[in-house]
Amino acid sequence: MTEKEHSAPQHFIRNIIQEDFAGNRLQELVTRFPPEPNGYLHIGHAKSICLNFGLAREFGGRCHLRFDDTNPLNEDEVYVDSICRDVAWLGFDWGRHLYFASDYYEQLYQYAVELIKEDMAFVCSLSPEEIRHYRGTLTQPGTDSPYRTRGVEENLDLFRRMRQGEFSEGSHVLRAKIDMASSNLNMRDPVIFRILHARHHRTGDQWCIYPTYDFAHCLSDAQEGVTHSLCSQEFEDHRPLYDWFIEHLPVPARPKQIEFARMNLTYTVLSKRRLNRLVEEGHVDGWDDPRMPTLSGLRKRGYTPGAIRTFCDMIGVGKSESLVQMSMLEHALRDDLNYRAPRFMGVQDPLKVVILNYPQDIEEELEGINNPEDESMGTRSLPFSREIYIERDDFREDPPKKYFRLAPGREVRLRYAYFITCVDVVKDENGEIAELHCTYDPESRGGSSPDGRKVKGTLHWVSARHCLEAEFRLYDRLFTKADPTAEEKKGVDFVQYINPESLRVVAGCKVEPALRGIEPRTRLQFERKGYFCLEGDSGKEPLVFNMAVALKDTWAKIEKREQQGG
Ligand code: ATP
Ligand code: MG
Repeated sequence: MTEKEHSAPQHFIRNIIQEDFAGNRLQELVTRFPPEPNGYLHIGHAKSICLNFGLAREFGGRCHLRFDDTNPLNEDEVYVDSICRDVAWLGFDWGRHLYFASDYYEQLYQYAVELIKEDMAFVCSLSPEEIRHYRGTLTQPGTDSPYRTRGVEENLDLFRRMRQGEFSEGSHVLRAKIDMASSNLNMRDPVIFRILHARHHRTGDQWCIYPTYDFAHCLSDAQEGVTHSLCSQEFEDHRPLYDWFIEHLPVPARPKQIEFARMNLTYTVLSKRRLNRLVEEGHVDGWDDPRMPTLSGLRKRGYTPGAIRTFCDMIGVGKSESLVQMSMLEHALRDDLNYRAPRFMGVQDPLKVVILNYPQDIEEELEGINNPEDESMGTRSLPFSREIYIERDDFREDPPKKYFRLAPGREVRLRYAYFITCVDVVKDENGEIAELHCTYDPESRGGSSPDGRKVKGTLHWVSARHCLEAEFRLYDRLFTKADPTAEEKKGVDFVQYINPESLRVVAGCKVEPALRGIEPRTRLQFERKGYFCLEGDSGKEPLVFNMAVALKDTWAKIEKREQQGG
């Protein structure tokens, strides 16, 4: 790995694993990442991926990629493919350990039969509403189903016929016989198999009964010999049930479930349901819109897998849910790209400059350093000619104090080129500045001072004759509020906090010709602007660049101020 990886900080899950090794309770660490193939992965999933695969790598164990595909209604093969791609892109390898809960359907059926035989499961013929009603509440115990006392033989027969498709959806379910008076609602005779006359994306029409998540998950873990089953905090109340199944069935391994806090990120939402709404309602341009916190969106935006891994290490693993600052993620990206991204010059709002004393019929090749942080990245050739473009904002007719860029009569440096002095401002009929006339000092070639005289400003530029047309897509936060779902319980819809200026498309940009022919998805820095990622093909003008992150971390300052209540 070429990325600058941070050394992983200590956390409670690593401690548990170390203790298990030390106490000889563990020979090999086996973890798994268990997505449901019902959506695209987001940065929250990255936390779980980095944790599971990261620990396995660290302890020389293995991590499985297992699809928890127990709900045929919402799941699809396209999600399987995109999830595999995203996990691989993040830099993790499941080797031959790609699994599907649906591969275990027969085994899970047999386990259920086992429970029936031991009088620990029964076919319940209450309607779904009745089941809910009998279940009780947090303050009231549940009531036994009248079917709870059905005999083993009758249960076996009914369950077999459920499988054979004799019954309609909702007419029967198989439930574990645990304790309707338990203070934990998950233990009140939970449903473990239900009838669904639905086609599954992998098993087709082979099954019309499907195991529930709670039944399938722990037994799949056990089936695969998972030792540590790491999941998010909301499954804490499901752990007694997880353990109950493991304890009462002849499983080949006894995995340990450990919960950790989900990650949330400011100025975005991390849940498939909400992200789906953004797509469905057209607030964004698909799941991989560069404003989305999905891994496919972040990739398109220009994020590197290394930056995301570093970020996941930085935020750590804890027990209480946290709202992580978006600026932290951006910081991780800047840090990573600073070392790997080649520099180029690009002008977003071009203002023409004519260099009066530079001969019309001459052009020359100057040299630019590709990355001052990494000499091995070499140099590139920068064509220079009499007419160039600079950034409109780099000139003021009436410069305020501390404005060190170009102004009438003032001398500045053109990066890697020459010192120029503004001698005239040419305006159009509307009084707008049409172009600038400057002179240059031939002795300052390369941008170095010929006689020790100093200039305060250094500007980026491109040669008018040589530059390429480009379009910059400038992204801002997707929401205007740090926690857009905070008032959801009060009925405030998060969608109303969408930032109307989250995307600004700037056409008519000019970039240097060395960009012709760069690979799709190349990440680069436009000097003084930010990190960008080429969208599409570099052979066709205008070249389109997505801005990954600006150079200056203005948002970090804003967030800090907000935190301090200022
Ligand atoms: P969502 O709420 O976005 O639909 P999910 O938890 O339903 O997510 P799964 O496909 O079930 O999505 O998730 C796979 C794994 O990723 C689970 O182990 C889950 O705990 C973990 N995970 C999902 N979201 C986060 C998050 N924000 N932070 C940490 N882990 C997460
Ligand atoms: Mg889920």
